[in-house]
Order: sequence, then C-alpha cells, then structure tokens
Amino acid sequence: MEATKEAKPVANKIKLGHVHFSGCTGCLVSVADIYQGLLKILDDYADLVYALTLVDVRHIPEMDVALVEGSVCIQDRESVEDIKETRKKSRIVVALGSCATYGNITRFCRGGQHNQPQHESFLPIGDLIDVDVYIPGCPPSPELIRNVTVMAYLFLEGNEEQKALAGR
Ligand code: SF4
Repeated sequence: MEATKEAKPVANKIKLGHVHFSGCTGCLVSVADIYQGLLKILDDYADLVYALTLVDVRHIPEMDVALVEGSVCIQDRESVEDIKETRKKSRIVVALGSCATYGNITRFCRGGQHNQPQHESFLPIGDLIDVDVYIPGCPPSPELIRNVTVMAYLFLEGNEEQKALAGR
C-alpha cells in the first residue's frame, strides 16, 4: 500500500459516492477523518458525486466507486430498491464498515419508518447484491478507506505505470 503514495494522478477523476443505509454515519465520519488525505483524493483522484448531507443530489447517480455504509433493512422497500440501483449504477461497490459487511449493529431502518425491527430484518449488502470490496471495522480506519479509494482509481484508470507502483 505504501507504493500508492507515489502514484501520480492522471486526467480523469473517478466518480465517488457514499450511499447510506441503516448505519450510524460513523463510517462517513471516518471518511471525513482522512482530513488532508480526503482533500488530496478529491483534488487528484475523485469527484464526490453523491453523499448524505454533503452533495445535493436526490437520486443515485452513475458512480465509479460507491462506498456503501450500513446494512439494508428489508422492511423498507426503498432501501432494497436503492441498494439494487447502487449496484446497477456503480462499477465498484465497496461495503464500508461492519454493518454493510456483516449485517446490523444499529437497529434503525434508514429514515426511521420502522424503528426497532427484528435483528433478522437487517442484511449485509452482500446478501442482496454482488460486492467488489469489503472494508470491515466499526468504523473502518480512515487510512484503509483512503488506500482502497486510490487503488480503485488506479484499477479503473488502467494506467500501467501506476498499477506497477501499486504492486499490481
Ligand atoms: Fe456505525 Fe460502525 Fe455501522 Fe459504521 S460499522 S455505520 S461506524 S455502527
């Protein structure tokens, strides 16, 4: 992972999004905790095209990388539709954090319409869609999120020199 620090950005930025389901937003705080690293990512590698409270976009857009936080409450039909829409519109789907990876830790459906549903109502996103990358942790480390984002950039851009730097 150290080698990715030497990678030089190329012209095209990737479209990065954060999609929130039943989680506490602690994973999003972890993304923000990258601080300068996040700014560097947004400067050089990615445009943030979708994120709760940070980007004013109502509908899930086309994304190169979707960071998905939270488990999916299957009592909420909109959440089930949104995770499928996320998969359809994203080249790489990342399960961000333990809720998305393993199932629920928090017990509130997104939006709060179904408070305190049964434990079995909360599914890891991998039970509903294909997932490309898992980053477990509660919350996952900011450094890991940064590295995965940069690696995704390198992979999607297909730059051979940068892939070599990243050890691919
Ligand atoms: Fe919150 Fe932890 Fe779940 Fe992330 S993994 S949404 S920090 S409870």
